[in-house]
Amino acid sequence: MTEVTDLDADFFRNWLTTAAAAVDREADRLTELDSAIGDADHGTNMKRGFAAVTDVLEKEPPGTPGAVLVAAGRQLISTVGGASGPLYGTLLRRTGKSLGEAPAVTRQELAAALTAGVAAVAQLGGAQVGDKTMLDALVPAAEGLGSSFAAAREAAERGALATVPLQARKGRASYLGERSIGHQDPGATSSALLIAALAEVAAA
Ligand code: ADP
Ligand code: MG
Repeated sequence: MTEVTDLDADFFRNWLTTAAAAVDREADRLTELDSAIGDADHGTNMKRGFAAVTDVLEKEPPGTPGAVLVAAGRQLISTVGGASGPLYGTLLRRTGKSLGEAPAVTRQELAAALTAGVAAVAQLGGAQVGDKTMLDALVPAAEGLGSSFAAAREAAERGALATVPLQARKGRASYLGERSIGHQDPGATSSALLIAALAEVAAA
């Protein structure tokens, strides 16, 4: 399969609007997962946040990849009340800042920037891989992106599935202790959706 090599501002806008559509389509499932081990708002949180992201990117389209991600991250932080808003907002903002002001970037540059974004999420939330959070999908995804977009998607999906047998050690689900075992983490699931959208846009 051919892969887009020049990732410009249009590519990033396309990624985030494709992600918003996926979040919209899967919102009920995300909320259902959050009702098992959280407070049943992850789907609505993500839907509200990404609708606001789509809006801002349409109204004032930023001119560089970095600026697109920073604007989107800022929007998530200001519109999503749950833990996931600041965490995803930080992910996009830090990734965007790492890309700097380049008009276009390569997949490898994005992989390095995403790795920095994921590290910022770990720092903000104090979680690591195995704690049953979005990081279980994001850490392997950033690593996979070093090889290909498809590898990133597969790694994120595998990471999300791998949260099922884990006991949550961070976030709301951790209050359940052992009762969090046996359920897929909502945030890892939404992260896999975002990475799948990236791979989809890259393959188009
Ligand atoms: P809230 O937990 O405030 O209701 P959401 O339901 O929108 O927020 O998001 C829950 C998701 O956020 C979890 O499934 C988990 O993946 C992620 N999450 C929660 N706390 C942390 C953390 N400290 N570090 C990383 N991810 C976290
Ligand atoms: Mg919740």
